[in-house]
Amino acid sequence: MSDLAIARSVKLQPIAAIAERLGVAADQLEPYGRYAAKLPLAFSAPESSRQGKLILVSAMTPTPAGEGKTTVTIGLTDALNRIGRQAVAVLREPSLGPVFGLKGGATGGGRSQVAPMDMINLHFTGDFAAVTAAHNLLAAIVDNALHQRRNPGGIDLTSVRWKRVLDTNDRALRQIIVGLGGRANGLPREAGFDITAASEVMAAMCLCDSLHHLKEKLGGIFVALTHDKQPLYARDFKANGAMAALLKDAIKPNLVQTLEGSPALIHLGPFANIAQGTNSIIATRTGLHLSEYVVTEAGFGFDLGGEKFLHIKCRTAGLSPAVVVVVATVRGLKYQGGAALETLSTPDMAALERGFGNLEKHLENVRQFGLEPVVAINRFTSDTAEEMAWIQARCAALHVAAAVSETWAHGGAGAEALAHEVLAAVGRSTSSWQPLYDLTDSIERKIETVATRVYGAGEVQWFPRARRDLRLIAELGLEQLPVCIAKTQKSFSDDPTRLGRPTGFTLTIREIEIAAGAGFVIPIAGDLVRMPGLPAVPASERIDIDAEGNIIGLS
Ligand code: ADP
Ligand code: MG
Repeated sequence: MSDLAIARSVKLQPIAAIAERLGVAADQLEPYGRYAAKLPLAFSAPESSRQGKLILVSAMTPTPAGEGKTTVTIGLTDALNRIGRQAVAVLREPSLGPVFGLKGGATGGGRSQVAPMDMINLHFTGDFAAVTAAHNLLAAIVDNALHQRRNPGGIDLTSVRWKRVLDTNDRALRQIIVGLGGRANGLPREAGFDITAASEVMAAMCLCDSLHHLKEKLGGIFVALTHDKQPLYARDFKANGAMAALLKDAIKPNLVQTLEGSPALIHLGPFANIAQGTNSIIATRTGLHLSEYVVTEAGFGFDLGGEKFLHIKCRTAGLSPAVVVVVATVRGLKYQGGAALETLSTPDMAALERGFGNLEKHLENVRQFGLEPVVAINRFTSDTAEEMAWIQARCAALHVAAAVSETWAHGGAGAEALAHEVLAAVGRSTSSWQPLYDLTDSIERKIETVATRVYGAGEVQWFPRARRDLRLIAELGLEQLPVCIAKTQKSFSDDPTRLGRPTGFTLTIREIEIAAGAGFVIPIAGDLVRMPGLPAVPASERIDIDAEGNIIGLS
């Protein structure tokens, strides 16, 4: 059965019944249809009385299809609820880029899904549209200021850094020229688009804790320089109030349910390769306030989403996971061991052995932060008992707990063994995470620390443009910000073809974007662009709608 068919076969509960499981009264909900509702911001106050335990779900380096983090996050939440604990899943909202691109939706799979999956995958409650509108409003204000010659302090046209965003994979928009067609149509200049998941507005929303805080962060967005090299921020264009007005609903987390009726909070969605990769502090705190356990996901491998979850989100919010679940698959290990994508379902112990170093490095990385990893072996139907046993034995040799997760096939029941391992690890956890770099380190040092200690690089190489950006960051007094490195998710290195556990490589930093409003800088490693393209055969070719309005072909 397809994910969509499984999802349709389950009768969902009214959203008020799900809210009740969290102790939230129906009159505190803002319903969006029958099965989704926004929760008020009041539940996310940092001084919340109850503090649940935070369980981070991360992964080894993924195959193009993903390793199953979302699926395991949902299944583990269901399993914890099944064994008498109270748990909520806290996830990101899907972007239309991957939904219509290669990867598909982001609502889990098989028996472990959040619902209604078609609603969540396609627009949901409109949060991404609001982020896109707020982001592009600032772009329009800046181009208008140039056109009206009303620009604060005389903007240097060539210095405008603020791009536009769109929630579609559209490579043709990466670099464009705006303002063509004569004087009435604005000033011609080079511009470009990023995907909405990479928007600084998205990042600022994820890292704020109130509307007031959001407005302040948006005001701090670095837009351009004047002719005499003075910085201009969004607040200099009086843009941040109007931007925040557009975001008044998007700032609130969305409540939905899993197919087994567990509560799930889904809020915002930066990617982990080109942005910070985790949902909002507001959603996470709401979960911790309302539930005993929060199971949350950070994007791609631990090198990307995990590192940023800790250094950026947890540092900002004063949070610490009690345990990190690292999802691994037989397929992923074979792929890291050099097996071709088409052969991943065939037993190949040699490839498994070659690929294990990849998982091992991710586990070492979790431990570097002072946290305990638990491996979730996400089982596919083609995986053999011998392969499962082999991975478990290899993890045991590293003194890492590991459990097979069959949540895709069996829902929460398939993750009970994992839930028990996770609870045992939570019970053992005594300390909170330790950062690998200090905010007082220089930006170069921060990048070098992540590159050498987390990625395994031998050295960092700087393009002249990156050196210029470093000088500008110093001049603007932004050196105390954390770094949100944009890097391929396919390798520890910046070269997507280097699989396994590469060491001693050179990580190249091409440029460094400034996201002063969000509160970090974005070093771009390798050839990465922040607007993906569609693959040769996009998923959109399968997606359709019938005469009754049923969506077809979503996965
Ligand atoms: P991630 O969050 O790590 O990117 P997902 O949970 O979204 O991964 O899973 C990626 C895809 O793989 C989804 O289409 C999901 O249905 C599928 N999938 C995950 N686990 C399994 C499994 N054990 N067997 C078959 N398909 C799976
Ligand atoms: Mg996911």
